[in-house]
Amino acid sequence: MVTLNEMEPIRRGMGLWTCAVVAGALFGAASRGGAQVRLTYLGTAGWEITDGRTVVLIDPYLSRHRRVIPNDDTLPGDSRPLFTNDDIARSDTAVIDRHIRRADFILLTHTHSDHVLDVPYIALKTGAIVIGTESTHNFLRAYGVPADHILVVKGGEDYALGPISVKVIPSLHGVLWRAPNARPQNPPLPSAVIPADAKATFRMGDLRVEGGTLAYLVRIAGREILAFGSMNYIEREVQGLRPDVALIGAMPERREIYDYTGRLLRALGYPRIVLPTQWDRFNVEYSVSQEPAIQRLESFITEVRRVSPKTRLVVPRYFDPIVVP
Ligand SMILES: [Zn+2]
Repeated sequence: MVTLNEMEPIRRGMGLWTCAVVAGALFGAASRGGAQVRLTYLGTAGWEITDGRTVVLIDPYLSRHRRVIPNDDTLPGDSRPLFTNDDIARSDTAVIDRHIRRADFILLTHTHSDHVLDVPYIALKTGAIVIGTESTHNFLRAYGVPADHILVVKGGEDYALGPISVKVIPSLHGVLWRAPNARPQNPPLPSAVIPADAKATFRMGDLRVEGGTLAYLVRIAGREILAFGSMNYIEREVQGLRPDVALIGAMPERREIYDYTGRLLRALGYPRIVLPTQWDRFNVEYSVSQEPAIQRLESFITEVRRVSPKTRLVVPRYFDPIVVP
């Protein structure tokens, strides 16, 4: 297989990634002997989790289309085509091919475009088993992903999948009452679930359907990784989990949720490592500086420190693997 170290790190603009938090490199020293678990940030809510044998992708969205998104307007000077709700949803296959070479499992939290758009291409390219909602299933079937490569879940399942196991956790999507560019009521969402008779191709506006939201606990090589894909959760569904690493949604809409960071970290027993997810400005190319998003993230970092001072919070850099110690 292709290892993470063979992936070309994207370092342009990285000089600005200086946040007052523990750098990913701190965990770079490899432990000898047992399998290493490495997490690699793909941007948005996208991650690759691997122990060097099994590759798990979470919400891999790499196209990063130029598009007005709830928290970020388009970047002045971005000369790429603008995607509106009326435009055909299509992946940037060149950027995907640069970074995604293999996957055994793909876990999807919900069917918004910044989570599922690239999954038909990645699933067909890699032959991975995809786990997700009925809405995810219907979307992928429309693109010809074989039914026996899709595991439809509702939340509550706990599946042994060969070398890994995956607990599926019922969850909630964040609310966008005050996001500057979000107008969730206008126009109304077409339906709650992508329908079973949906046909490719889709327009970007068709992927405003959430289809329900899930979170996942991935057990791999003796480590437990809890992954969210939005800024909300159901406290009783995560109470008592003890993940080594929690990937926690950190966009500003978390403030619409009562004591978001405190309730979650207490329910999880103050995890050793927290990695913010869904925090970056994902409507620009990977090479563009994320400094404004890092500044926006500071309040989340402060919340984590206040609630759980012993937690190591790492701001991930794109395609720079973080080793779980
Ligand atoms: Zn969403």
